[in-house]
Amino acid sequence: MTSSTTPVLRVDNVWKLFGEHPVLRGISLEVAAHEVVVLIGASGSGKSTLLKTINLLEPVNDGQIFLGDEDITDPQVKPDAVRAQVGVVFQHYNLFPHMSVLANVALALRQVHGQDKATAEARGLELLTRIGLGDKAGEYPDRLSGGQQQRVAIARAIASDPRLLLLDEITSALDPQLVGEVLDLVRELKKSGSTILMATHEMGFARRVADRVVFLKDGVIVEAGTPEQIFENPQNPATREFLARVL
Ligand code: ADP
Ligand code: MG
Repeated sequence: MTSSTTPVLRVDNVWKLFGEHPVLRGISLEVAAHEVVVLIGASGSGKSTLLKTINLLEPVNDGQIFLGDEDITDPQVKPDAVRAQVGVVFQHYNLFPHMSVLANVALALRQVHGQDKATAEARGLELLTRIGLGDKAGEYPDRLSGGQQQRVAIARAIASDPRLLLLDEITSALDPQLVGEVLDLVRELKKSGSTILMATHEMGFARRVADRVVFLKDGVIVEAGTPEQIFENPQNPATREFLARVL
């Protein structure tokens, strides 16, 4: 039974190895409903791998991951059923280039959720309008700026009201002047109650928008806390060293 206090996501002592190399070493974290949790850490610290294990794109070697009450690392679980509940946006290549913006947004609604074309497209257009891109519905992705494309990718990820949104460095490939519009949309999602786990290099954003910040180093959570705790008063020398480099 899912009670109001059951976290949306619970990662419990997850280990992930590539060959002999441990990339996640006993990761445990929770994301509560409507919470925005931000993963920070150097390149190679395991942020993307962690997000991929949650979306079942990488199997774990040990530990469990719960989406609500369901252990999604159970081999009986169907990955598509999990992915239907989790929206994902990556750094690159989110949109299908040969499909219109609207068709991109409507695709999962049709394929995963079985909606008919008209219903899926009506919902897609509603979302595009909400993010200020209703007039781009008929365009192909390469006619849009990188920032617009990432906003469309976010619209696609939220189209079916996922329980959890995973965002992996969604602004890292963008020109600096396009970062703001994408992060503003994430802030809007937070205001409207989305539950988000995201990796980012945007420390200013993490500080202003995160409910909790989790610092990873070499596959271990070194420190986690509120933005104030992590940015104003980090306890661990590794956190201080990382922040001194990136701030
Ligand atoms: P981050 O997202 O924090 O930069 P990653 O999760 O991408 O870190 O990578 C963590 C470590 O895992 C790195 O050492 C990386 O080289 C390694 N790694 C990631 N994906 C693979 C893979 N498919 N095969 C082997 N090693 C991988
Ligand atoms: Mg990464």
